[in-house]
Amino acid sequence: MSNLCTDKVVGDILAGWRYDISSLAPEMRGDYEQHLAECAHCRSHQFGHRAIDIGLMIVASVSAVMFLVAFGAVRHYSPRHALVLELIALAGCLFFSVVWLIVAVATPAPVVVADVARIHARKIHDRLPSQIRERLPEGTQEFLKSDHS
Ligand SMILES: [Zn+2]
Repeated sequence: MSNLCTDKVVGDILAGWRYDISSLAPEMRGDYEQHLAECAHCRSHQFGHRAIDIGLMIVASVSAVMFLVAFGAVRHYSPRHALVLELIALAGCLFFSVVWLIVAVATPAPVVVADVARIHARKIHDRLPSQIRERLPEGTQEFLKSDHS
């Protein structure tokens, strides 16, 4: 995996955006999408960045839940210094919720997750018999059709 970027100029621009082109207008995106398709170097970097974003969100979610569970445990067993422990647990939960929010707002991770969900939902949808498909709520249909990946 030590291959170099095939187009340094485009590669540098992509690196500046952390390989995130999800916020670009579709007509501007073409060249960059093509480069990502052709350049293994940039593609692997893009994958790495998205893996970090999604990994961070998972870690933050798990940590927030753990602190929430700790808070519940302190409430349930009410040991000595219960108030201090409760405050620590709440602060931890709040901290990781904020981390989660920052990652979600600052990175395209939610877009990536939504796209993956959409692709899978579409596959399942295509396999459904048409009688069931017609009965799906309109919101679902819109979600499956919308194509701003
Ligand atoms: Zn490249």
